[in-house]
Amino acid sequence: MRAGDNPEVTKLVEREAAAIERGLAALPAAFPTSREAIGALLATLSQRQRYFALIGEHFSVFGFDGIVAMDRLDEAVLRAAQEVLRRRPAADADAKAEAALAEEFAKLPEMEKHPVGYMVLFAARKMFEGFDNVLTRLGLDEDEERQPYEHELLKRVALLVDAYISSRTTPVARHFSDLRREYWVVARMHCKCGQPKYAVKMQSLVTGTGGEHLDRLDVKCGECGDERSLEFPLPHFGDLSIA
Ligand SMILES: [Zn+2]
Repeated sequence: MRAGDNPEVTKLVEREAAAIERGLAALPAAFPTSREAIGALLATLSQRQRYFALIGEHFSVFGFDGIVAMDRLDEAVLRAAQEVLRRRPAADADAKAEAALAEEFAKLPEMEKHPVGYMVLFAARKMFEGFDNVLTRLGLDEDEERQPYEHELLKRVALLVDAYISSRTTPVARHFSDLRREYWVVARMHCKCGQPKYAVKMQSLVTGTGGEHLDRLDVKCGECGDERSLEFPLPHFGDLSIA
């Protein structure tokens, strides 16, 4: 099985990516308030529920094809989130809001060096929860009082999303992120026998018929012995030589 080879997966990913694009196109070019930017950001991120359900219906969120499709759409939704964040209003830094969110977000788990989209989405959700905790703790009910905290939240989510997108659009960083992603694909796969763990038996770099570079992972279920050969295209392998 090669990532990206199943035409049904490609069709679903393209259709859903187009829906994400349409959602973005329907948004204003600039948000007058951080509150509105937060609303648009949440609406953008919530599209994950739709494609998660669709993938579960047509493939499996624990199967190779389903995981590949999820990762592609998570990336598409994060690119859209980056665009929403760029449309937020400019705001002066506020020392109190900065300190309060810095303290709260210090409790969040440390991010992977080469995160996969779902990890970034999880971290963003945790930031929103932390933001709510801070507002509740400080008893900030008035719109005006909340504003600097909303600006600060958006700034921090933007840093998170920008770091991810930049790792996926810079060739060499993208290569290492692709390699690390293979591990996380296998880690999420469940075998049909019910065992939630495949073990990697062999990893090899192979050249496809068109001269393209691929990483091949031969994996085996420790319970029933089911074996799979998974191929991951490494489109940025050639970029390493110029690094
Ligand atoms: Zn099995």
